[in-house]
Amino acid sequence: MAAQVVVVGSCMTDLVSLTTRLPKAGETVLGHKFFIGFGGKGANQCVQSARLGANTSLICKVGKDSFGNDYVENLKKNGISTGQNVIVIVPGANLLLNFEDLKRASDVICKAKVLVCQLEITPAVSLEALKMARASGVKTLFNPAPALADLDPQFYIYSDIFCCNETEAEILTGIPVGNLEDAEKVGRMLLERGCKLVIVTLGAEGCMMISVEEPIPKHVPAGKVRAVDTTGAGDSFVGALAFYLAYYPKLSMEEMIRKSNCIASVSVQASGTQSSYPYRKDLPQDLF
Ligand code: ADP
Repeated sequence: MAAQVVVVGSCMTDLVSLTTRLPKAGETVLGHKFFIGFGGKGANQCVQSARLGANTSLICKVGKDSFGNDYVENLKKNGISTGQNVIVIVPGANLLLNFEDLKRASDVICKAKVLVCQLEITPAVSLEALKMARASGVKTLFNPAPALADLDPQFYIYSDIFCCNETEAEILTGIPVGNLEDAEKVGRMLLERGCKLVIVTLGAEGCMMISVEEPIPKHVPAGKVRAVDTTGAGDSFVGALAFYLAYYPKLSMEEMIRKSNCIASVSVQASGTQSSYPYRKDLPQDLF
């Protein structure tokens, strides 16, 4: 069965120390906790999608070291197909994912329902993946994170759905986003640049959406929850949205966003990034 959600993106291993304060230059402070977490926006989004039940594939590059090996194990545990792994020996392996790798994965990309990209790999590679998907009629979901002030304008044209948070929206447009009105303003600007649909995530406030089809901005609120750790909430949201786009294409966009808000708001109630992402079996069944 071909992967329905294909993510072209990054894997990062997070080495996290918890301390009462940051050390000054040259100082050593005692941490009270240390843990290793699996992160990277590409992998995070793919893991969230897989945990909801999507058949997923991640096109990525990892180093030939213990971190790389452990990461591939982590992906397998989450039921994610990594196809053939291209292994290199440098720390910034993510940046070595290249056009050749995409070509080798073209069958996977072209048979997907949804292709998801971010900017933690070489931007030109993300753009090429979006173009390949578009040429095959695969829906493209682009998350411009981390944001680039000089983003290639083609990204707007090749994004069916352009999903950013408030900070990313500000970097892209120069307009600080502090409330819904600002989000609507940046949404309109991004739409004018060629996207079909723009979503700006607003943390506890949920999202703002605007599209060519429905050019009146809509606020889709998130439920009130007690947030413990919001790290990776945006990736949980994007992963969930990719799942709904692939498996429930008949739902309205507003409904898909509402459900994705629910899933991301579950993720903020536990600590860590991937460790906080919910599984389908633990979620209310009316989300499916
Ligand atoms: P990022 O993680 O990229 O900064 P946001 O903070 O905008 O992204 O969060 C993404 C999504 O996660 C929101 O649209 C919302 O659905 C959910 N979310 C984030 N923070 C909260 C919160 N405090 N309460 C409920 N939902 C939240």
